Formats: sequence, C-alpha cells, structure tokens
Amino acid sequence: MAQRPGFPIKLQTQDKAPSVKASTVKAPGSKPASTNPQGLGLDSSAVRQRMVQKLAAQGLKDPMVLLAMGSVERHRFVESALVNQAYEDTSLPIGLGQTISKPNVVARMIELLREGAEGKLGRVLEIGTGCGYQAAVLSHVATEVYSIERLKGLHEKARANLRHFRLANVHLLFGDGMLGYPKGAPYAAIISAAGGETLPQAWLDQLAVGGRLVAPTVTANGQQALMVVDKTDQGFKQSVLEAVHFVPLKSGIS
Ligand code: SAH
Repeated sequence: MAQRPGFPIKLQTQDKAPSVKASTVKAPGSKPASTNPQGLGLDSSAVRQRMVQKLAAQGLKDPMVLLAMGSVERHRFVESALVNQAYEDTSLPIGLGQTISKPNVVARMIELLREGAEGKLGRVLEIGTGCGYQAAVLSHVATEVYSIERLKGLHEKARANLRHFRLANVHLLFGDGMLGYPKGAPYAAIISAAGGETLPQAWLDQLAVGGRLVAPTVTANGQQALMVVDKTDQGFKQSVLEAVHFVPLKSGIS
C-alpha cells in the first residue's frame, strides 16, 4: 500500500466535538440498557448478533465484515421512532429524502471491497456519508476512511452520530463526492452509497492500482446494478452484479 499522504487542509473530523470522557465509551454490549440514550429496550448486542447470523445465513462470510456488522450499534444512527427496526434487514429514512442502506447491502458491498484482501484495507473513500453508519462499519475493516457527503445537514448529522464512537480513522468531508477526494488518493477501495448514470472519472483516477471500486450504477436496461471495477496494471476490469436500489448520485453541494 502506498504511503499515507500529507493533509494540508484541516479535515472536518470529530476533533471539534466537545470532549467526551473516556469512561463513557464502552465496548458494545457492555452498557446497561437503562443508560441507552435512544431507548432500545433490548440488549442491542444480542440483537446485533442475531442480525449477523441472518447475514451469514444469506451467504455473507467474510469474518472481518461480520465482526464489524456485529460491533457497530446501528440503532444509534436512526431516529428514535425507528430504533426498534434498526436491526431488521431494511433501509430506513435518515432525513432529507435519503436512506441508510439495509444491513445486507452494506455487508455485501464491503465484502466485495475486501475480496482477496489480506488483513485490513488501506485507505477507503466512501461517497455518500448519509448518517455515518457505513463509515463506522468501514472503520473496522480499513486503516483510514474518507467519507464525503454533499448535503450539509447529513454531513453534520453523521458527525454528531459518530462522535459517540470516537473513531480516529474516520474523516468526514463535506463536498461533491463525484469529484472524489484527491488529497487522500490513491485509495485501496472506493465505495459509493449513491447511484449515478456512469462512474465518475475522478473515482477511476483516484483508485490505486490493485484497488477495487464498488458502486451502484445505471446499466443498459435502465435499472441500477452493483458495479465492481478492479484497477490493474493492464487497465480496468468491470463486472456487473445484482440489481440494487440506491438514492441517486447528484452533483454539487446543498
Ligand atoms: N452510507 C450511508 C448511506 C446514505 S444514502 C449511510 O450509512 O447512511 C446516500 C447518500 O449519498 C445520501 O446522503 C446523499 O446525499 C449522498 N450523495 C449523493 N450524491 C452525492 C455526491 N455527489 N457526493 C456526496 N454524497 C452524495
């Protein structure tokens, strides 16, 4: 993996967050349910393990991905009214017309990203931070995660959601992800949570040789499908996988 680049700009990470006492941060499942701020009236660790069992039954098998899915408290990323659905295999609204992808799709895409990789991935670029859930999952399988969101309201929501987790390797960026994030390039992996008509050239340029991109893209029949692109010494290798339904990739910021 290439050396980490320098970062001349100040990244918008959780650095600006008011400091949280280390003693308030505990391993998943170690917190008494009564102190759960969002009131998941269940042992969330046990519920997550059941979700992971279902993912495994659906054919997901990368141990590192399953472990990450079992660790990240998805209920902390959804509105309190939806907390009881947080571990169901369903997408949920996160505001501003956007959705958090269903766990099966998050796990599937990250498993595709990691296919053939030994150990953790290097730097990963995520387009479409949304509520920050997938960025949190990625932080367990990659050394650094750069996640871009074009909607200020969601960028801020993700920052607030992620504060609790104190993930030093997640860097949240506000901007147009269609341009990628050249300062972090080259990336071992690029993952998009929004689907466009074509793959932006910037993503292909910013992918490392040996790296992989996974993104929903509109195909010849007008439907969205998962696109996997490998960048090799000999050029790009592209495969079109199953049909998916993601929110649209849009240019510009708002
Ligand atoms: N990974 C997210 C899923 C969010 S849905 C999660 O775990 O919650 C996809 C997100 O992509 C939306 O928030 C949408 O605003 C964002 N998006 C769409 N086009 C974008 C672009 N060009 N750059 C950055 N984000 C974009």
